[in-house]
Amino acid sequence: FISPDPVALHARLRPEALAAVDLATGRRWRYRDLDRDVQRAVAVLTRDGVTRGDRVAALARNSVHQVVLQQALMRIGAIFVPLNWRLSLPELARLLLDCTPRLLVADQTLPELPPGCRAMPMAAFTAAVDAADPAPPCLPHSGMDCCIILYTSGTSGTPKGAMLTPQFLLATAVNFNVLGEVDTGAVFLCDSPMFHVIGIVTQIWPPLLRGGRILVSPGFDALRTNDWLGDASLGITHYFCVPQMAEALRDAPNFAPQGWTSLKALFTGGAPNPPAHIRWWLDHDVRMVDGYGMTETGTTLGMPLNPDLIREKAGSVGLAGPLTAVRLVDEEDRDVPDGTPGEILIFGLNVIPDYWGRPEERGRAFTADGWIRTGDIGIRDPDGFISIADRKKDMFISGGENVYPVEVEAALVEHPAVREVAVIGIPDERWGEVGCAFIVATAGSAPDHDDLTAHCQRLIARYKVPKLFRIVDKLPRTGSGKVMKHLLKQAL
Ligand code: ATP
Ligand code: MG
Repeated sequence: FISPDPVALHARLRPEALAAVDLATGRRWRYRDLDRDVQRAVAVLTRDGVTRGDRVAALARNSVHQVVLQQALMRIGAIFVPLNWRLSLPELARLLLDCTPRLLVADQTLPELPPGCRAMPMAAFTAAVDAADPAPPCLPHSGMDCCIILYTSGTSGTPKGAMLTPQFLLATAVNFNVLGEVDTGAVFLCDSPMFHVIGIVTQIWPPLLRGGRILVSPGFDALRTNDWLGDASLGITHYFCVPQMAEALRDAPNFAPQGWTSLKALFTGGAPNPPAHIRWWLDHDVRMVDGYGMTETGTTLGMPLNPDLIREKAGSVGLAGPLTAVRLVDEEDRDVPDGTPGEILIFGLNVIPDYWGRPEERGRAFTADGWIRTGDIGIRDPDGFISIADRKKDMFISGGENVYPVEVEAALVEHPAVREVAVIGIPDERWGEVGCAFIVATAGSAPDHDDLTAHCQRLIARYKVPKLFRIVDKLPRTGSGKVMKHLLKQAL
């Protein structure tokens, strides 16, 4: 299997078609321009000594040049490592030591560099690309070799370097394109950070594979994003964000979804999206389509775009994409029947082969026959639609009954005074464990214990109702919007 190169193909199929726009600068690339700039970047990087298997890290806001860098490294057979610029300098230094890049392209203060690593400002890279002559055509590389290292979000502790392959990128694009109805006319707004799988793969590769268009924004800003979604001249058809971003859009003063006329669907993933929210968006004529994936698996499952199904199945993350198989299993890896919670196992072309420099992780993360253990608990309905009950390690047992915090959180956000909530299990003498809810209240409201308890009792079984409610100013979240529950546990 040879590494795919859709940009090179579309430069021949539709050279004049607009491929990319940098929304920060207004600069535009037709497919022929994008292909030429990728080949110029190949020249710049090889001149700098970057060769096959080398790592090149980035610490930069989203830009079309970051996409150019990723594509160029793939043509060279080198490995792109986009780093989370929200991390502290010591955290970044540890990641650099882990992947030992030859080059770091950065637009911010540099962390300590490991031996053999040079830094280059992003602006210098951009200028060098503009000035370079395109390199001669590259020989193709294996589609099974690592082309991107992405560190996982670190929700459950230290991030691990997932080794993405060209096959992974292609499979994610195919899965997304089939589930998300992406065609040549697709226009993606890309403002999820490119150090996450959504940012560098899911919002980029599906449109590029089809010869569609990417509109790259330096980063999410609710006011700006609302304007762009309502701008008919941009014609955005697909927008993928994490649920937190969708919430911020609807809270912004310029929120006007009736003007999002070109948008096919608002795609979410990466963190639980409460069914009440999905129905709310549908009531405002926006098809909110939830999907499930991990850094290790890219786009795996997704809801169809059919509004009747979205309403009927609100709370589900949909069906597996065409290149992916899913199983739900119990503690002994036996398949569970429909309706019974089980750990989600995934197999398919979209799954990473390994973690960078962590041979011991492979045995833990994969079954002997190669299914990846997601650590997430799912439930399948008779129509094959899967819902994420929770992360395995966040589930707790109260009075002998399993409690999935995600379900309790979904009930609590239906309370008008609850803006955000995270539930964890804490030790309890009588019940073994009980729920503790950390609540961020909506402005001007002060939800009280009895009221919250009564609200929960109307919606969920008594043993699931938290015994403790704590009002907090904010919840500790990762860059992708997930609550870091281990920090909440520590804080108690
Ligand atoms: P780490 O593995 O370092 O602890 P992480 O698992 O948060 O971090 P990611 O790869 O960014 O890193 O996130 C994948 C996880 O996100 C999944 O395992 C799942 O728990 C969660 N997730 C993804 N999509 C959804 C969704 N639609 N609904 C609920 N949870 C989701
Ligand atoms: Mg994970």
